[in-house]
Parts: sequence; structure tokens; C-alpha cells
Amino acid sequence: MASSARIGSAVDPSAKRPDLTEGKKDLSEEDDDIKIPTEFVDDVFTLEVMVDPYKIVDCDHGFEKLAIKKHLYFYDRVCPKCRAEISKIVPDEELAKKIQEEFVAISEANKTYFDKIKTALGNDKDYDSVRDKPDMPAKLITREDDLDVDALVEALGDSYPTDAQPIILHAISRGNLTYAEQLNDRMPNAHYHKDFNYKLMIDEYIHLSIVDASFLKKAEKIYDKLTSNSKKSKFHKIFDAYLKTTYLIDAETFLDKAIKAAIVTDTSYYSKIIDIYLSKEFNLTNMQLALKTASKLSNAKTKESYITKITHKISDNKQYIDAFKSAKNISHFVGRLFLYSLVAGSAMSYYLLKIGHGFLYPFRAIRTKKNRSKPKT
Ligand SMILES: [Zn+2]
Repeated sequence: MASSARIGSAVDPSAKRPDLTEGKKDLSEEDDDIKIPTEFVDDVFTLEVMVDPYKIVDCDHGFEKLAIKKHLYFYDRVCPKCRAEISKIVPDEELAKKIQEEFVAISEANKTYFDKIKTALGNDKDYDSVRDKPDMPAKLITREDDLDVDALVEALGDSYPTDAQPIILHAISRGNLTYAEQLNDRMPNAHYHKDFNYKLMIDEYIHLSIVDASFLKKAEKIYDKLTSNSKKSKFHKIFDAYLKTTYLIDAETFLDKAIKAAIVTDTSYYSKIIDIYLSKEFNLTNMQLALKTASKLSNAKTKESYITKITHKISDNKQYIDAFKSAKNISHFVGRLFLYSLVAGSAMSYYLLKIGHGFLYPFRAIRTKKNRSKPKT
């Protein structure tokens, strides 16, 4: 970039700031012979000589007044250079004087250049929302999630959908999802960015759920705000993410809701939940939950096959009474009878073994006694 080479100072590449250099390229090229000392340049926002230099009292870093104000109101409460929390910004009178004496007053070309920058800032619509505002936002806030949504809505007025969009994307990219959600809630319902933004937030929460599964609850809360077409496209991602967690009851509630709203029509999704219950170590409560889930399957054959699998698992773990109760869920008479007999069979052989064990007790007792009474040799 011509301008940054000229002033000999690099722009922090990690700082995602609105690029204000675009419209000013022609201006820079025709003034290539202008040399601006690095300390007079806002090298984060405007990349130009500072017309109204301001400094952050907490760290002394300086920026163009309008640019740092916009940053404070809508993006962040920390210094873009050193991440210091900003409690106050003040005009840097000393630097302003220096710029006048050591740059503007030096030549007619410099003065013309300075005035051009000043006019450009004055006409820049990007700053209109903060121009007449106090230097610091009314509430002194340190976290982006608490930024003033109402102030932004009021400041942007009719241009809210267009002007808020980059701010929402910025908040999402920085992980300030609560703030992004609040801003997006204010988008007009029909606006094509609204669902798009919500979907991005859902993806972020799904990503975060790898660390903490409870983030899926937040993803679901945003999903509820989507139009039904977008819900169809996002259902699978959230449902699959739920399956990967231990939140199977939440997965089922989420599926119930989608089926009720006709987002999903295929009840075979319930079998994915049952498969997980069956794959886990035996636990009667889980089997009872699996039975409840199986009752929602609309395909009779699939339903029957799952009830049989669940009954077997309960029976294999010797909970025969519960296995009988489970077999009762099979609506078809023959199938039910067959399953009953299987459970009864396992129960019988198990109890016979126990009875046999009990029946032989006296003989074993005598044998033990005999061994014990035998004198040691
Ligand atoms: Zn700083």
C-alpha cells in the first residue's frame, strides 16, 4: 500500500478495523511527496495525519478523535494497540500543536494536504453516528456484551440494517455472541441478513459446545428465532451436536419440537437416540427412557425391533420384572407373547440355578464342616 510505505509505519494486521483507506487512495497517490512523521499518524484507523488527535489516558496511545469514538461506541472498550481498558479519552493538545507547527506550517502543500484530510473526515458518513456524541458513551462499560444496543439503534436510525451489519459480523468474529444476538434481534424481520447472522451465531455456539455442552441450549434459543426454512437447514447440525453430548433428553425435546412444527417429518431420528442408550453401559433408568423414545417411532416394525432390543438388554441384566414390563410395550399379540416367553425362559433358568444352589446348600455345608473338622496332619 502506497500510503503505509510513505509514512513508514506498519498497520497491525491483526486489528480488524473498518478500512478507511479505500476512498482516499487517489488522494494519497497524488500527494506522494508529502512526508508525515510517524508520530503524527493514526496508524490503526485512518492511516493519515491526525486532524484532531486524541489519546487514551490509560495507556497514552493516540488516535484520530472520530475513529476512536466510533471504536468506543460500537466495537470495544479496550485500546486497539495494547488492549488496555479505556476509562477516558482526552484531546492530545500537545500533539495537535506539534502537528500544526512541525507539519502543517512547514509548507503550503502540507497545509493543503491537511485540509483535504480534514474535509474528508468531516464528510465521512461512517462517523455520522458518533459525530455529535460525547467523547465517552454514557455508561462506562468494560465488556462488549454490555454495549449500548439502544444507543446504536437510535444513532443509526433508518440505516440500521445496513450499518449494523458489519458491527454484528465483527461481534460474532470476536465471540461477543450475546451482543451480536441483541443487535440482530433489532434487524427488521424480513431482512435477508437476519437469518444469515443467526445461523453464524448457531455455528459458533455449536463449536463452543465441544468445550461446554450447555452452549447448545444457547444455539437452540437462537434456532427458535429462525424462519422455518432456515430451521430446516440448521436442525441436523444442532441435533447431531446434541447426540454427541450426554444431553439426550434435550436432544429428544429438540426433536419433539421440530416434529410438532413439521420441520422434520421422519420419526426415525428417534432411533439415533435409542441407539446411544443401547450402546451405553446398562442402567435401568436409561432403558426406561429408551422405551419412552421408542414409543414415538411411527414405523411399527422398527418400533417392535427396538422394544425387543431394549427388553433383551434389561433381561440380560436380570431385571426380569422390568423386562416383562418392557415387553408389554409390543402391541402385536404374537410378538409380545414371543418376547414374554424369552424373558420367562431366561428368568426360569436363572431362578432354577438359584434354587439349585439353595437346594444343594445342606450337602455343601456338611462337606465344609467335614473338611474343617478334619484334624490337621
Ligand atoms: Zn494503548
